[in-house]
Amino acid sequence: MPLADIHSRINNACQKVGRSPQEVKLIAVSKMQPDTRVEMALNEGQRIFGENKVQEAQGKWPGFKARFEGVELHLIGPLQSNKIKPALDLFDAIHTLDREKLARKLASEVQARGFCPELFIQVNTGEEPQKAGVSPSEVDHFIKQCLGLDLKINGLMCIPPVDEEPSLHFALLAKMAKRNGLKGLSMGMSSDFESAIALGATHIRVGSAIFGERVKAG
Ligand SMILES: *Cc1c(COP(=O)(O)O)cnc(C)c1O
Repeated sequence: MPLADIHSRINNACQKVGRSPQEVKLIAVSKMQPDTRVEMALNEGQRIFGENKVQEAQGKWPGFKARFEGVELHLIGPLQSNKIKPALDLFDAIHTLDREKLARKLASEVQARGFCPELFIQVNTGEEPQKAGVSPSEVDHFIKQCLGLDLKINGLMCIPPVDEEPSLHFALLAKMAKRNGLKGLSMGMSSDFESAIALGATHIRVGSAIFGERVKAG
């Protein structure tokens, strides 16, 4: 679907609930997409992209960044603590902060560099054992731990269970962010970004609706 169509869907969703489209950042999720499609989006003016693997992004983005001004990269997949350095070299935002060990190592690297990416804490709102993220009962405590480490937390992120109504999870995430004074809400994907916008999403992560089905392994 052309980017212009995605933007008009975002505009409509915002209008319905009286929000400004400027409050909603569209992250084009380019993982496992062929370079030609990514380049097409860049040529259409898209500058904010999401990747879920550090290594895949390392292979793909330095080249694009050299050719296109103003690219902003968001890490939306799990971060291993031994990948913090390359992640900070490449990414402007990390959506998947989800454990104390990672927070501690990230904090010391951030101190050393004097630069902190935009940070989101991933919450496992469905409490699914196979999924990353802090459990809802631990969120408040984990936010305090991060703040205690001098990490600036922008907001919360979730990936709802595939077989449940996403709105319930978006509403829960919004409630947890609000009671902790956090403004950022990274929620909503191709199939549900309109309802995420209705519930306050500030960052939507849209892949297949923009690029089509993912094709490349990796
Ligand atoms: C792949 C991915 C997306 C994009 O999914 P689509 O359904 O293709 O829009 C969004 N968020 C995360 C965390 C992802 O891994």
